[in-house]
This record gives sequence, C-alpha cells and structure tokens, in this order.
Amino acid sequence: MKKSRTVGILGGGQLAKMLCDSGKKMGYETVILDPSSDSCGRFGADEHIIAEYNDEIALKKLCEEADVITYEFENVPSEVINFLKRNGGNVPQGERPLYLSQHRVREKSAVNEIGVRTADFVAVKNLETAKEALTKIGGPCILKTCSGGYDGKGQWKIQNEEDLNSVDWKNVEYILEKMVNFQKEVSCLVVRGITGDVVTFPVGENIHKNGILNKTIVPARISENLQKEIEELSKRIVEKLEIYGPLGIEYFIEGDEVYFNEMAPRPHNSAHYTLDACNYSQFDIHLLGVLGEKLPEVKLLTPVVMLNIMGEDREKVDKIVLDENTKLHIYGKTEWKQDRKMGHINYCGENIDKLIEKANSF
Ligand code: AMP
Repeated sequence: MKKSRTVGILGGGQLAKMLCDSGKKMGYETVILDPSSDSCGRFGADEHIIAEYNDEIALKKLCEEADVITYEFENVPSEVINFLKRNGGNVPQGERPLYLSQHRVREKSAVNEIGVRTADFVAVKNLETAKEALTKIGGPCILKTCSGGYDGKGQWKIQNEEDLNSVDWKNVEYILEKMVNFQKEVSCLVVRGITGDVVTFPVGENIHKNGILNKTIVPARISENLQKEIEELSKRIVEKLEIYGPLGIEYFIEGDEVYFNEMAPRPHNSAHYTLDACNYSQFDIHLLGVLGEKLPEVKLLTPVVMLNIMGEDREKVDKIVLDENTKLHIYGKTEWKQDRKMGHINYCGENIDKLIEKANSF
C-alpha cells in the first residue's frame, strides 16, 4: 500500500474533521479548504487553507499539495471542480455526483431511469404550473425547492390549491412530490471506489425531530429482505449512474415498497454510527475509495443507536455518563446554537430497545 499521500478536502465542517481523523489513523496527510478560520475541520487537518471556494490562488495551492481531492458538502459549484481539474488537481469523483444531487428533479429522474421507485413528482416553476401538477398527481403533496434546501427547509405541505396560494413563490425551480405514507425512513451509505469496488454499510433507521436527524438505529427494524433490497438498490444506483466516492441515500418504506428520497455524495450523518459499530467507518472507506485502494469488507460489530447532539443540548453534555459502550463525539464548533449539529453519541450494545431507551433519556 502506498502511504504518505495527501488528501485535500473542500469544506471544513465536522465531516471533514472526521475524514481527517480517519486519514491520520491510516497514515494520510490532510489539507482542508474552508473560508472560516474556526471551522472544526481544523482539529483533524494537518493544514487549513482559509479561503473562499472560488479563490483561485487557494485552489491552485490545494492542487499542488493534495494527491487526491474530495469534498465534504454537496453544494460545491461545478466551476470549482473544473478549475481544479484544469490546474492539475486529481478529483476522482468529478462533478457528476454533485450535478445529480444538487437538483431534486435531476436526481429523481436519474434514479427512475434505472428502475428505482420514487414518489410521483412534477417539476414546477410557479403557482400556475403547481396547480396543474397538483391536479395531475393529486394531494396530499409536498412542495420543495429543487436546490439548496436542507433539514426540511424550503418545503411546504400541500393538501389543496389553497395551500399553493399561500406559498411565497420565488423565481427558483420547485418540485411537487406526492406524499408517501411511509412507516419508516431509512438510509444506506454506499461507497464506490475508483477501482470500481463497491461497499455498502448496514441500513440505518432514521428518526427526525423538527425536520433534523435525531437518531439512527442500526440494524434498521425492517425485514432482512428489505435490508438486502436497499443495499442492492444502493449498489445499483452508484454503478448505473456511474458515481464514484461515497453516497448517502435516503429511502422511505411503505409496506414492502421502497422509495428513493434523496442522495448526498459525501459522508452522511446517518452513518456516523459506523465510527464505533463497524470494523471500518464511512470515513475510512471514503478515503480508501477515492485513493484507489482495494476496499475491505465492512461488518457491523454491534447493534447501535446514534444520537445527534444539538446546540440546545449544551447543558446536557456535561451530565453524560460515559461507559465502555457509550461513545461521545464532539466536533469542536465554537458556537452552540439552536439546531446546530455539535456532536453525536453512539450507544452500542446488544439490546436495541435498551439502547433507544438510553438515547431517549439523554
Ligand atoms: P428531504 O429534504 O427530501 O429529505 O425531506 C425532509 C423530510 O420531509 C423527510 O425526511 C420526510 O420526513 C419528509 N418528506 C419529504 N418528502 C416526502 C414525501 N414525498 N412523502 C412524505 N414525506 C416526505
């Protein structure tokens, strides 16, 4: 194995920090590029280039220093990737995963084309086209902006035309989606290495609070057949859509039916459990994948419940009772703000119900 290579990362948040931690463990140097001097990635990175993402001098420096460049957020503009490539940067994932995942209609159409089910949807631009779309697919629906929304922002529940009238329409693209009457929301993190090796992590069951991920339960409490189907679907998506690198894919489960919801070409919050419950974490496999190493088999070593720690939980953190199976991760962000992800806890152990109880009593 060729060691001592340097990995460049666009973005310096907690995902970058955990990628850098993983790099350190495996003998890779890391350099992050992020505009804010106090971004928490600096705690893991060997070097922090403090610059805007379109700063050409900084991007050239990244090309010079990094043997491989990857990203930790999905909104990297395609011009940045093109600039890096033109300047000798090695960005093995390229811009395709970004192009697909930055636009909800684009990603849903792409997966439909390879036979993966999504909620019925129509691209809409304004009130008029939304009314037509609502008549076509029937309510209840959910209206979302195609780009830029996160943690449930830029979304409206639509029961009828009246709800459409009360949307503050902007000059952006929207998608109107039929509501799926799901029983569970789950996700699967899949990595396709540049050698073509594909690794999937066990499916996680996600519980949200106020539109933000609160907990991930692993194994998901769904049948083994469904777990297998979701891992197969995830493999199919990266292979057929020719995506390299990591991809966090979210699905809905209604009865026995699996619906693709969305994907992000980076490590995923719902796979943070892998840090303590798997033989290799999502960050390890992400790095090995983009570095072109052979990907090892991934195993779940223990059931686990991952709980997100938010800014409003600051007081509670001091009171956490740690034990050998309760693993605390704090990202080191300076400001504890409401709804901001500050860290997470992995509760490992044999009995899922007890782990959920522990997490609930945090
Ligand atoms: P998203 O940003 O697409 O992940 O949506 C945020 C949350 O809204 C999801 O986690 C679901 O709980 C809910 N949601 C989104 N789309 C749908 C849908 N088509 N049907 C039912 N619920 C949805």
